[in-house]
Amino acid sequence: MSWDQRWLSPGVVALYVHVPFCARKCGYCDFASWATGRHDPLMRDYATAIACQVEELASTGVLAGASTAYFGGGTPTLLGQDLPRLVAQVVRSCGGLQEVTSEANPDSLTPDLIESLREAGATRLSIGVQSTDDHELRLLGRLHDSATAKERVRDAVASGLDVSCDLMCAIPGQTSGSWSHSLHDVISWGPSHISVYPLQIEDRTPFAADYGQDPSWNAEDRQADYMEEALMLLKDAQFRRYEVSSYARRGKQCKHNLAYWTGLPYLGLGTDAAGMLTREAYQRLQAACPQLPALPREAFRIRTRVLDGRSRLAGRRDLSQLSFRLEFLSAAQAAAEDLMLGARLTSGIGAELIAAASEVLGEGRVATQLSTLVSEGLLKQCGKAYVPTKSGWLLGNELFGALWDLAEDQRTQTMEVRP
Ligand code: SF4
Repeated sequence: MSWDQRWLSPGVVALYVHVPFCARKCGYCDFASWATGRHDPLMRDYATAIACQVEELASTGVLAGASTAYFGGGTPTLLGQDLPRLVAQVVRSCGGLQEVTSEANPDSLTPDLIESLREAGATRLSIGVQSTDDHELRLLGRLHDSATAKERVRDAVASGLDVSCDLMCAIPGQTSGSWSHSLHDVISWGPSHISVYPLQIEDRTPFAADYGQDPSWNAEDRQADYMEEALMLLKDAQFRRYEVSSYARRGKQCKHNLAYWTGLPYLGLGTDAAGMLTREAYQRLQAACPQLPALPREAFRIRTRVLDGRSRLAGRRDLSQLSFRLEFLSAAQAAAEDLMLGARLTSGIGAELIAAASEVLGEGRVATQLSTLVSEGLLKQCGKAYVPTKSGWLLGNELFGALWDLAEDQRTQTMEVRP
């Protein structure tokens, strides 16, 4: 798809559904998720409300070109058999989905649930393993142990679903030896995709209170060493890095996440879910959401975030009842943002994006900034593409900031809309 087609797409390519429930809150987590009893009826009401919203959304035509759906959280698998019912509804409503992912935690994933998800149309499971060291798992506040994670990952792989595992580095109790064990263990369980993240200590979490902002086990140089070790080990095991944190076997990249990084429009439903729409997709959404205001003339890209909490959302099934935070980006801001997102990928910022962005931002300005970043060692030229160097990834904020600066005016117009 050309960049003009992405920027003018009449619908969304990806649908995200947020499930904000967890069995217990992990000490480091600042995601929109809340500890919820396994049999709390709120979860069923929430899933029913989202299913109704997806059906209504489909009638606007905005989902007609959707090719991926992703159920994230929180812990989607805490919904039990309500999750496959919701997955089936989304698959029916969207029509032509090629990839349907659900996040899962080992403690709430069962062989029956794996099978039901597969039958409902899921193609992929992303399992939060985080570590295979039981002591580290306890310090993180995770509910599963390594043996359970191994069993569930193996069950999922045996079911024929594509399986991704998340692993976390720079965590309390971790050593270079235990990190390499976790990587070896997970590789041996057979997933086709592995994501590795350094733990971020977020403000106002129990971890921030307990450990402060810069404990030695989380220091930046440790994070860099662990990420480098992951790169080496995963490369040896035939996993190819395609994004700063993401590794996949051939053909097993996550299409949904790639949509986020390549300027493709997406919509998020559920508490705190984010979306990114073209003008055309926004106007289609307006058919079901009369509370959305007319677009400002200069708005080129619209970022959306659902403001309703889980209880409110569970009681309101109509899209017209949703509250949103909206952020309007100009064409220049959208182009700068796409350059910035391109720099997360190993394929880098390609020639087509550079040409499209140059038309909006000025050829000279884009070329000069890219050359500057090459001379600073943050990007390197590979054929016609500019790809991030190791320093570019380590100094990601500097690299991304320099590309975002191309927008010149970085202020965006934001507003909250309520029914
Ligand atoms: S399971 Fe995931 S979303 Fe839930 S509290 Fe832990 S880190 Fe947060």
